[in-house]
Amino acid sequence: MNPSLQPLVFNEHGRCRVCFTCVRECPVKAIRIFNGQAQVMSDRCIGCGNCVKVCSQSAKKYRDNRKDALELLESGEKVVAMVAPSFPAEFAEIDDYRKVVAMIRQLGFYKVVEVAFGADLVSKEYKKLLSKPDDGYITSDCPAVVNYIQLFHPELVRYLAPIASPMLATARVVRKKYGPEVKTVFIGPCIAKKTETEEVDAVLTFRELRSIFWERGIFGCLVQSTDFDPPNSGKGSIFPVSRGLLHNVNHTDDIADGDFIVAEGKTNFRDAIREFENGNLGSQHLELLCCEGCIMGAGMTGKGKRYSRRTNIKKYVKEKLGKLDEARWKNEMTDFEELDLSRGFKPAGVEMSRPDPDAIERILREMGKLQPQDHLNCGACGYDTCEEHAYAIYLGLAETEMCLPYTIATLHNNISELNETNERLANAKNALRQSEKLASMGQLSAGIAHELNNPLGVITMYSNILLDETEPDNPLRRDLELIVEQSDRCKSIVSGLLNFARKNQVNLTRTDLNAFIQRSLKSVIVPPGIDLKVNSQLGDPTVMIDQEQMMQVLTNLERNAIEAMPDGGALSIDLEGDEREIHIRIADTGTGISDENKEKLFTPFFTTKEPGKGTGLGLPLVYGIVKMHRGGISVQSNTNPEKGPTGTEFLISLPRNDF
Ligand code: ADP
Ligand code: MG
Repeated sequence: MNPSLQPLVFNEHGRCRVCFTCVRECPVKAIRIFNGQAQVMSDRCIGCGNCVKVCSQSAKKYRDNRKDALELLESGEKVVAMVAPSFPAEFAEIDDYRKVVAMIRQLGFYKVVEVAFGADLVSKEYKKLLSKPDDGYITSDCPAVVNYIQLFHPELVRYLAPIASPMLATARVVRKKYGPEVKTVFIGPCIAKKTETEEVDAVLTFRELRSIFWERGIFGCLVQSTDFDPPNSGKGSIFPVSRGLLHNVNHTDDIADGDFIVAEGKTNFRDAIREFENGNLGSQHLELLCCEGCIMGAGMTGKGKRYSRRTNIKKYVKEKLGKLDEARWKNEMTDFEELDLSRGFKPAGVEMSRPDPDAIERILREMGKLQPQDHLNCGACGYDTCEEHAYAIYLGLAETEMCLPYTIATLHNNISELNETNERLANAKNALRQSEKLASMGQLSAGIAHELNNPLGVITMYSNILLDETEPDNPLRRDLELIVEQSDRCKSIVSGLLNFARKNQVNLTRTDLNAFIQRSLKSVIVPPGIDLKVNSQLGDPTVMIDQEQMMQVLTNLERNAIEAMPDGGALSIDLEGDEREIHIRIADTGTGISDENKEKLFTPFFTTKEPGKGTGLGLPLVYGIVKMHRGGISVQSNTNPEKGPTGTEFLISLPRNDF
């Protein structure tokens, strides 16, 4: 066969959605997950096609030999089609099998012969071999099983029955009957057949054949039935169902005698080989198939339908055997009695690096499998056990993320980290919004204050002059006093605004904070009912601050505290800190601030005080100044006496800025 450059089974890049089904279904773990794609590793692949069958994304493809076959047909050579006995299971919709033969013939084949005849010859050969009182043999008609033994159990190759497969036998029959120069194309259900032998020129799957029919417009209803060319088969047609070989060898009785172990399917055939290797099976023979009968081969069209396919084969075999010309069949069998049906094998063990127990342990630990009970062996990764998965990671075939429990745990961690980040982000956004608001308020205030300052000065000046010039008993004097009082109030609002607007730079000087606090308390009026407590835990009281601005901060907070305690109470100032930061805590035992108001505290003009008492500019000013010092301010408050003593505590943190 012309070896094509395409690997037998391969991945179509980009289609894989990493569900790990192929990993799970691959009997030899010839699939590695790399860059988020499942890739078939040709050096380990046995060509069973399980991954092709199970991939829901059609990401697994197999070597396409349609071009090779069509080129042969167009080359002018005599090309013989060799049709596998499973064809009635594939073309179940065509009631007369001879139509399928005719359709194949229409492609330009010189002859269309049955591989079932090869199966008849092979069965006879098996009968001879297995009747020898010998060690157990392993049947070699399934190429995927042969590949498996050659690659993964090379020491068992000597047990493989050295008998040609029905395909190979048929190719030899064809060359003997129709001339050594004829070319052969095998058509069957199997992918692994494509690399079985170079004695066959091309191998098509039924699926490939169907697509050629489709392209060429060849349909059952359009052809005249023709039968297979000789030699015609006998019971070999039963070959593709499970135990087909045994049925054919007439060994069915011996199954009961325990001469044979029949194992099919990706798990069973491997289990049987393992036990055979361990010597548990005595001298029993193994009939092994990688699929559950050739009718379930990956080269068939569609999925499932195991029992209806079986039924179709049985129906076909019944019909064939009913018409079998026994004498002619026997003659033909005799014609090929001398045909060489031997074959050889190539043991080619796959190199496996020895697992390093420490490395495996490390990998398991990384996936959170610290104790035996952490080994869930859930199979979600595609491997049967956590240890096998770890070994595959060690070999570079798998990734830790394939472990579902591990990935879920990581996801949970990520989610909580994300939540924390979100919270921080929301806080930062709030702070930013606040700063922006303050900045625009600042600009606006500065503009208004600046414009109002001069006319206000004039009003204040002239109203004072008028007041001075007015006699004490003048009835206008009361009105003038009111004008003076209110314009003074306006002045204090305007100067507050100007202060607020000016805080866009700081002039840091080294300051003894203990002394500075005392000074601040001297500039506020403390009514008699208020108890003052200052407590400093500062080892080093020096800090770099803008004294003028920080004085405003302290006096504003102190004044607010005092105003919140109209019936007296305690005002405490606590200082503490380390070499990087200092904390100033200003607490009162006043009314407290409701949660609703707490959110508005730093908004300009927010005040709960009666008109004439508050401007609502104190705390925004405090906030701006603290931020200019690259510090922070927070507030805690209680208004509910049932929850404990009422009062408010402002905490200011300032970097020492001591460079
Ligand atoms: P003003 O003092 O002019 O009202 P501030 O910005 O200084 O403006 O304060 C805004 C508001 O915050 C006050 O009106 C008051 O409701 C509340 N507040 C500030 N400090 C305290 C405190 N220590 N205790 C209770 N409420 C306070
Ligand atoms: Mg205030």
